[in-house]
Amino acid sequence: MGLDGVIKVLSEKIKDVRRDEPMAAHTSFKVGGGADIMVLPRSEDEIVHVLKTARQTQTPLFVMGRGTNLLVTSKGIRGIVMKLGDNFSGVEFHGLYASAKSGTPLAVLVREAAARCLGGAEFLGGIPGTVGGAVCMNAGAYGAEISDFVEEVQIATLSGALTLNNVEMNFGYRRSIISSLPLVVTGATLKLTPCGSEESKKKLSELNEKRRAKQPLEYPSAGSTFKRPEGGFAGAMIEQAGLKGLRIGGAQVSEKHAGFIINAGGATPEDIIALIEEVRNRVHAHCGVMLEPEVKIVGER
Ligand SMILES: Cc1cc2nc3c(=O)[nH]c(=O)nc-3n(C[C@H](O)[C@H](O)[C@H](O)COP(=O)(O)OP(=O)(O)OC[C@H]3O[C@@H](n4cnc5c(N)ncnc54)[C@H](O)[C@@H]3O)c2cc1C
Repeated sequence: MGLDGVIKVLSEKIKDVRRDEPMAAHTSFKVGGGADIMVLPRSEDEIVHVLKTARQTQTPLFVMGRGTNLLVTSKGIRGIVMKLGDNFSGVEFHGLYASAKSGTPLAVLVREAAARCLGGAEFLGGIPGTVGGAVCMNAGAYGAEISDFVEEVQIATLSGALTLNNVEMNFGYRRSIISSLPLVVTGATLKLTPCGSEESKKKLSELNEKRRAKQPLEYPSAGSTFKRPEGGFAGAMIEQAGLKGLRIGGAQVSEKHAGFIINAGGATPEDIIALIEEVRNRVHAHCGVMLEPEVKIVGER
């Protein structure tokens, strides 16, 4: 079935279906070509309709949150991109538990929790992604990871909803079972700890201030470009190799934090990919460590 046919089937149940949607508008790097089809479902029923349509029409499906860990190539993404962001967001609290839909921004989750005197996960507040993206990536900062708080994760499948517990999620450093299995996360339940509301808000703003001081938040990026290698930090290794400020086209190793590759203005995805490779090769030549990208490169090459 052609793309128009796929759009027709998706539109039978879902209002927001877009053709040739520029991915630059949906990623924090602010680069990338178009998605053949972007669909923004608002309910679990609609999510299952997307899964069914992709299966029946044999169309590739990519799921994303806020696109804060993605680098999309210039040629863009073939098939369907299902975005689970503000269109599928909301959080409920029961005692110490917060149950959030996958599109909920982490900042909203943490802020709403603080208002209910629930804390512990303030470190998530400055990470610009969604609950779904954070669960997939096992996002973390300052020595803690979302997996430290996850009780269970809700998954949508063609044969119904599924719940995975923390062990079944197979969390590791910046990975989970979803790194190897194409599952769609619809929500997660986190167990938080009682705290003073003001105390939690203060912690949040201190952590955000720390980020603003150390990270190049004034430029588009996808956060830390590389995973933390064993026995060191990517940023320090890049700096020691003399690569701070290194530039290819509009892509640059940040002067403020060498662990971030930024879009310093007019970067193409290929500039960024070329700089990632250059940094990996030069760090390897300098200290023998081959850095692994944390950023996910998606789309046609
Ligand atoms: C300025 C800045 C600072 C950052 N700081 C940190 C940090 O301190 N720590 C950290 O860990 N990360 C950090 N990041 C990276 C990023 O914010 C996290 O990885 C975040 O968890 C990604 O969430 P997202 O919703 O944007 O996911 P996306 O980037 O949209 O997707 C990331 C991955 O998750 C998958 N995915 C997303 N949602 C779903 C879903 N519902 N179901 C199935 N798969 C899904 C995608 O397919 C993709 O593989 C930072 C990024 C930026 C731009």
